[in-house]
Amino acid sequence: MTGTLVGHDAHLIGGRWVRSAGEPIPVENPATEQVVGHAPAGTAAEARAALDAAVAAWPAWADTPLEERVALVRRLADLLERDVDELAALIATEVGMPVHLARAAQVGLPIQVLRTTADLAADYPWREPLAAGEVVRVPAGVVVAITPWNMPLHQIAAKIGPALVAGCTVVLKPSEIAPLCAYALVERAVEAGIPPGVLNLVCGTGPVMGETLVRDPRVAVVSLTGSVRSGARVAELAAPTITRVCLELGGKSANVLLDDTALDVAVPAAVQQAFFNSGQACNALTRLIVPSHQQAEVAERLVAAVGALRTGDPFDPSSDLGPLVSARQREAVRDHVRRAAGDGARLLAGGPEAPDGLPVGYYHRPTVVTDVRPESALAREEVFGPVLAVLTHSGDDDAVRLANATDYGLAAGVWSADPARARSVAARLRAGQVKINGARTRDGLDAPFGGFGRSGLGRELGRAGIDEFVETTAVLGGDAIG
Ligand code: NAD
Repeated sequence: MTGTLVGHDAHLIGGRWVRSAGEPIPVENPATEQVVGHAPAGTAAEARAALDAAVAAWPAWADTPLEERVALVRRLADLLERDVDELAALIATEVGMPVHLARAAQVGLPIQVLRTTADLAADYPWREPLAAGEVVRVPAGVVVAITPWNMPLHQIAAKIGPALVAGCTVVLKPSEIAPLCAYALVERAVEAGIPPGVLNLVCGTGPVMGETLVRDPRVAVVSLTGSVRSGARVAELAAPTITRVCLELGGKSANVLLDDTALDVAVPAAVQQAFFNSGQACNALTRLIVPSHQQAEVAERLVAAVGALRTGDPFDPSSDLGPLVSARQREAVRDHVRRAAGDGARLLAGGPEAPDGLPVGYYHRPTVVTDVRPESALAREEVFGPVLAVLTHSGDDDAVRLANATDYGLAAGVWSADPARARSVAARLRAGQVKINGARTRDGLDAPFGGFGRSGLGRELGRAGIDEFVETTAVLGGDAIG
C-alpha cells in the first residue's frame, strides 16, 4: 500500500461515479511526507446534486422493510471484515496509526459498530404503546454526515449505520485530509447492494462542500464529528431552517487516580489511554489527576512507561506510536508543549524536538508535562497529540472539582481499588462516558457516546445513536367510535 498512489476524481452520486469539476486535493502519507493519493475539492453544484439523489432515494428507502435495511448494514460489515488487512493498511497510510493497532482499533471497531447497530435496530421501539395511543418512530429524512480524519472509518460507521437502519438516506462528506477510507467504504456499500442514492459520497473542503450541504433546506439532520469551531459554524448555518444538528466535538478528558489505586497497573494504562493514535483521539484521557502525596511515585512510573513506547514506522509491528497526521498538526502540538513551559509546567518526558532517528515524517515524542496549573492552557485546551498533562489533587472532592473544571465533557477515567468508591466518583464527573479501571469505549458499543458542554450535542452509538435519526409521532386515540 505504501508506494501506491490512490487517485479519486469523482463522487458517488445516485449510485454512479460522477467526475468532479474541482481540483484534486493531495493526500499525504504522514510517515513519508509523500503524496499517496488525492480526492476532489468538490463544488457547490456537486453537493446539491448529491442531495438531489438522496432526496429522490428517500421515500423508497424509508419504505424498505427494516429487516432488509438491517441485512444490508450487516453485509457491509461483512465486506469490511473480508478486507480488514487492506483497510488497516490504508489507515496506516493516510492517518499514520501503526497497522497492527489499526486493525482492531480502526477497522474492527467500525465493523462492530455496524453489527451492534444492526442488533439494536431489531429491538428498537419503532412503535411503543401509550395509555391512550402509541408512539411511532419514523425516519428523519435526508442526513448529511461530516466526518474527521483521525478514525475515518469508525466515524463514518457511527453515523451511517444508525442513519441507514432508521430509514434515512445519507450524503457523506469525509475529511479532506483522510478521504481514502471513505472511498473504500462506499465501494463496499455498493458491493453490498445498498441501493443507488441511499449512500452518496462527496469530497471537498468544509467551507465549500460542507457548508453547501448544511445550508440546504432539504436536509433533516446534520451529524458532524470534528472541532468545536466547525461544530459552531455548522450549528449557525443550520439554525435558520431549524435543522437538527448532532455534534461530536473535542475533549480535554480527565483521568483520576484515587489514592488506593494500584499504580503499577494504572500508570502504564493511563499512558495508553492518553497516547492511543498518537493522542489524536477525541476521547483521549489527557489530564492525569493524581494524589499530591503520590506525585513523585507516579512521575517515576510515567517516565518508565513512556520510555518503553516505540515511536516509528506505522508498518513496523514494534511501533506503538506513528506520526501525527500532518506538518500543521505537529506544529500545533509543538506550540502547546512550548507554551506549557512558559506557563510554569515541567517537562517530565518527551518534548517538541523530532524523535531520534526519525528526520522524515511528522513524528512527535510522547510527552508528559507535570506541575500543570489548572488555569493554564495545557490544562484547558485540546492538544490532539501525544501530550499528557499531570495535575495533583488533595482528595476525592478535589479530584472531582479539577476533573470538572473544563469547558468540555466528552470522557473521563477513574481508578480505584474499591469499585464502589470509583463508581461514586464516576457519578459526579460531568462527562458523557466514564471509564473505571481502564475500561475501553470499544468494549461497550451499546453505550451512548458524546459529550457535555463544548464536547457536543447529542449521542452516537447504542440506542441513542439511532434516536438521532428518527422523528417521533405520538398517535393518540384510534379506538372505534360509538
Ligand atoms: P475539523 O473540524 O477540522 O473537520 C471535521 C470535518 O468538518 C471535516 O470533514 C471538515 O471538512 C468539516 N468542516 C470543517 N469546516 C466546516 C464548515 N465550515 N462547514 C461544514 N463542514 C466543515 O476537525 P478535524 O481536524 O478533522 O478533526 C479533529 C477534531 O475532531 C478534534 O477537535 C477532535 O476532538 C474532534 N473529534 C471528535 C470526536 C467525537 O466523537 N467527539 C471524534 C473524533 C474527532
